Amino acid sequence: MFALTGDKAARNRHLPGVPFLLLALAVLLAVTWTATYTITSREENAALEATAFHAQRLTEFFESHANTTFQYADDYIKAVRRIYLRDGTLESVRQFMAAVPPSTAILSHITMMDANGVPKLISTGKKERKIKPGTHARDRDYFKFQKANTADTVYISSARKGRNTGLLTVRLVRRITAADGKFKGLIFAAVKVPQLLNFFESMRIGGNSSATLVGLDKRIRIRQSQKGFDGIGKTVSQSKLWEELPKSDTGSYRQTSIVDGVTRLWTYRKVGDFPLVAVIGTAYVDTLMTLDDVRAVRYAVAGLISVIGLVLVFFARRAIIHTRLETELEERRRSEAELRTAKEEAERANAAKSEFLALASHELRTPLTSIKGSLGLLVDGAVEGISEKSKEILAIANRNTDRLTRLVNDILDMERIETGKLEYNFTSLRLDNLVTEAVVANSGYAEEYGVKFLFGKMDADTRVRGDGDRLTQVVANLLSNAAKFSPVGDNVEITVTRNNGTARVSIADTGPGIPADRSEHIFDKFTQVDASNSRAKGGTGLGLNISKSIIEEHGGTIGFDSEFGVGSTFFFTLPVAH
Ligand code: ADP
Repeated sequence: MFALTGDKAARNRHLPGVPFLLLALAVLLAVTWTATYTITSREENAALEATAFHAQRLTEFFESHANTTFQYADDYIKAVRRIYLRDGTLESVRQFMAAVPPSTAILSHITMMDANGVPKLISTGKKERKIKPGTHARDRDYFKFQKANTADTVYISSARKGRNTGLLTVRLVRRITAADGKFKGLIFAAVKVPQLLNFFESMRIGGNSSATLVGLDKRIRIRQSQKGFDGIGKTVSQSKLWEELPKSDTGSYRQTSIVDGVTRLWTYRKVGDFPLVAVIGTAYVDTLMTLDDVRAVRYAVAGLISVIGLVLVFFARRAIIHTRLETELEERRRSEAELRTAKEEAERANAAKSEFLALASHELRTPLTSIKGSLGLLVDGAVEGISEKSKEILAIANRNTDRLTRLVNDILDMERIETGKLEYNFTSLRLDNLVTEAVVANSGYAEEYGVKFLFGKMDADTRVRGDGDRLTQVVANLLSNAAKFSPVGDNVEITVTRNNGTARVSIADTGPGIPADRSEHIFDKFTQVDASNSRAKGGTGLGLNISKSIIEEHGGTIGFDSEFGVGSTFFFTLPVAH
């Protein structure tokens, strides 16, 4: 299921790490959100700039439109007034107006009043309106203004609905001054407000925008917003306009409306020579609102990218980890397989070696036994006529044959131990007797190395369960080491003791002792404490290792106490059998 091809493993090495993925994610998120934020705020600024530009153009248009309209109205009433003052009769005015009627698209009607504010003529040029008796305009602001004002100043009133027509108009009013300078009445043109503001609806300047014509006396003449005409006649002395206007006839400022509380960008322009200022208010909320949707979409996209990024990284991370695990698993499998093969090979080689050793040892033992037998006969003097010198040589050859036999036997034993083929024949036996017999049987070592084997404490009737031959082999081995390493003439003391269910055989010598740093390995195979010394004394480093195996197979322990330069006591213990 997790099988991994070589290709895949190679690919795996080129896979990015998880930290790299997280870094990539962080970069993606940072770039996405920074870009979104930057683009959005840039767009907002651009939109505000565009709005300001648009508002300015609009204000220019508004001002020029109002100026043209009022100029037309003013020119018309001035012409009418001139004719009236020249001829002094309403009839000549009527004739003029019939001949050159005012534009009904711009003006609703022309009215002339006498010095008492009583209308004398209300005309559209083509039609004359009947004047109800008793009507007068003495209480109207424009009348009061022009009556009090001696100069020829134009006055524009706040918009209001006509009493008869119901039309919303502003009155552009001039006084009529007699040749003697006396106030003779006034004349006004009623300018249609919808015509003045006809651009407003089509301009799409936003639901919260407004267009205002405000008088220099700070009173609103006309104002239109989405709600219609509102704020007309209101005094707006708190407007920043009055701070800005003295600086320049045209400009802009930001302020919250006094009329409806909406924050706007206000752009203004003085209307020609009229005592009016045209003001366009553009609400920030409108400008930014159009961006709201775009911004929402953009942030949603950024969010989506972030989520996709997160999900991708999550799955990529899983895939990487999974692939890594697969690779690891595969590598482990491969190394396990390699180990198995190596083990099998080693086992095969070992088996071959064991087989060879067993065969070689066997093949060596047979001739060795025969040589030993022959030498024995010669040394024992079974053959006559052998000189003493020859006998000595034969004795040396005999000892060497013994060594060779022991070596072959040791190698064979070691092999058997390793392959688990060393067989034991357990019986109940007396350890004290076994040791005594072993010492006697191996007294040859004492002779060979010029030492004496002495018995120390020998606890009689110390019974153990064991293989007599193998235990004898251990004792012989310890004796041979003790004899080998003790100085000539010294004693090797052998004791058999029993204590708390444990039998103990000790063999103490006065040899060189075992240095502490070597004591750990002394029972290892092929270990010799001092190779040069041991080589001189002979030996292979197998004896203690074989002895240890044998004793442990008996459930006992083997060890030594040693003082370097003073001597060693090798011992083994066995459980006492009852
Ligand atoms: P060997 O055949 O070399 O004697 P052993 O396994 O019997 O092999 O002993 C291993 C080594 O332990 C010896 O070569 C020797 O260096 C050290 N050794 C064993 N017995 C003694 C001892 N009684 N005194 C000093 N060294 C000893």
